[in-house]
Amino acid sequence: MCMGAMKVFNAIILGGGAAGLMCALEAGKRGRRVAVLERSERIGKKILISGGGRCNFTNLHCLPENFISGNPHFCKSALALYTPADFIELVERYRIPYHQKTLGQLFCDHSAREVVNMLHEECRKAGVGDPRQHADPLGHPERCRIQRAYPAG
Ligand SMILES: Cc1cc2nc3c(=O)[nH]c(=O)nc-3n(C[C@H](O)[C@H](O)[C@H](O)COP(=O)(O)OP(=O)(O)OC[C@H]3O[C@@H](n4cnc5c(N)ncnc54)[C@H](O)[C@@H]3O)c2cc1C
Repeated sequence: MCMGAMKVFNAIILGGGAAGLMCALEAGKRGRRVAVLERSERIGKKILISGGGRCNFTNLHCLPENFISGNPHFCKSALALYTPADFIELVERYRIPYHQKTLGQLFCDHSAREVVNMLHEECRKAGVGDPRQHADPLGHPERCRIQRAYPAG
């Protein structure tokens, strides 16, 4: 619960990068009230420089056996729940042109900006608070108090 702005959130996500934005929009789609706290002035800054500015947004061979992890089972369940095909479907829905390079790598034809805009729009549609309205709240801890964690499950 964030008292500063008198808004109640089920989930507060720290960082509006690729991981935070995906987490936010998926939680929002599940009916959670979500805010993203991003410390820099813009979301998705690293996405913009990814893939030489064209964002290598997924890989067709993104399989559990290609990951190194202390818990290989986590990878299996995570990748079973959200596959490269799911993200490709999203990219195609937004009519973002893309191409395959080597070894199953998929890149935007034009600009990584299109991926950032898509994630931002998906967050907006899922009711996620505009990250830019929550700039630097961590610099003002008195404005934001976590009352209780969201229960698991
Ligand atoms: C040059 C370059 C090219 C790359 N190309 C690719 C590519 O083509 N494909 C690919 O999959 N990966 C690529 N990567 C890796 C890429 O960085 C990751 O895939 C992806 O951006 C990581 O996303 P993330 O959300 O985990 O982290 P980040 O993008 O780093 O996001 C973390 C966010 O959290 C914010 N933050 C941090 N601390 C706080 C705090 N205390 N409070 C609030 N906000 C905070 C940061 O400002 C940032 O916005 C590339 C990396 C680099 C450096």
